[in-house]
Amino acid sequence: MTKRVVLIGHPVAHSLSGAMHQAAFDSLGIDAAYEFWDRSPMELADAVGALRGDDFLGGNVTIPHKERVVPLMDRMTEEAHATGAVNTITREGKRLVGHNTDVPGFKIALDKLVGKQKMPRYAVVLGAGGGARAVVHGLITLGFQRIVVFNRHLHRAEGLVKHFGRSAAHMELRAMPWHESIIEAELAKTKVLINATSIGLTSDLSPIPPEILQPNLLVLDLIYAQTRLLRDAKSAGATVADGEVMLLNQGAAAFTLWTGQAAPLDVMQEALAAARAGGVRSAEGEPTGLPEPSGEPVPAEASAEAVAGDPG
Ligand code: NDP
Repeated sequence: MTKRVVLIGHPVAHSLSGAMHQAAFDSLGIDAAYEFWDRSPMELADAVGALRGDDFLGGNVTIPHKERVVPLMDRMTEEAHATGAVNTITREGKRLVGHNTDVPGFKIALDKLVGKQKMPRYAVVLGAGGGARAVVHGLITLGFQRIVVFNRHLHRAEGLVKHFGRSAAHMELRAMPWHESIIEAELAKTKVLINATSIGLTSDLSPIPPEILQPNLLVLDLIYAQTRLLRDAKSAGATVADGEVMLLNQGAAAFTLWTGQAAPLDVMQEALAAARAGGVRSAEGEPTGLPEPSGEPVPAEASAEAVAGDPG
């Protein structure tokens, strides 16, 4: 019997994760199919309930359901519990287990960006959504001593800080209002800048002006594309990385959870690159301002703007 893995989101018509996981199943001779389920919030409980069936290895969860699935789980791992978000589901018999593989995916991406340098201790995070929660949890567990979170809607950043209250008690985790002068002042004291907003996903905009980017910064954009922020940061002399490593590694961790096997990273990376070149878009924040894919390759620039981290 062909086993099934589903990506549940709204919308999920096209996904880089599908290409990545199907290639991984096929390369290891695992008889499994990766499916896309577009389910509204009203349909979510039934969709998640279906994963209890024996034909399912598990699933991925993406925008806008990552937080909503939490109460539907029978058990949560430490990372899912800490972030309050689930991007991967596995089965233990009929019981469903919620995981958050964005956290290890982010840590690997940051580690790679930092390279041989000593891991910094101060970070600025732009954004306060599900991705930002994985980032902040990752930074806390990596020993960061000061993390400042900026968000367009301050209350959401404040909610994030409150959520991490206890686990961040030993360090300084602050929410700050989105003012360029405050971001600039914080960046001047900081080595690591993470963009966990979706600004740059569907447009060629940057969340911050180029003048405030310093050459000593390490800049990670969760979006899987050479965003304007990354281009500006590179021009300023900063060290930069996009969301590819995070996307790949959150996927690899999910693959291992479903199959018990090491993920074929090279195969997955190749499949991602091919899907990206072919204009496949992410399930995360499906672009609204671009034409629907028609089967024709999307011009490289448009597709680079369109892709981003999947169920991560
Ligand atoms: P959410 O929808 O949960 O959060 C979106 C964030 O972007 C919020 O902080 C929101 O601010 C902010 N934002 C959106 N539009 C604007 C705007 N016009 N101006 C200012 N702020 C804005 O999404 P996620 O956290 O799940 O994802 C965020 C990004 O990270 C996406 O681009 C996603 O693709 C990427 N990602 C990549 C992963 C990877 O594996 N590489 C994994 C997870 C995410 P507000 O709260 O004020 O609306």
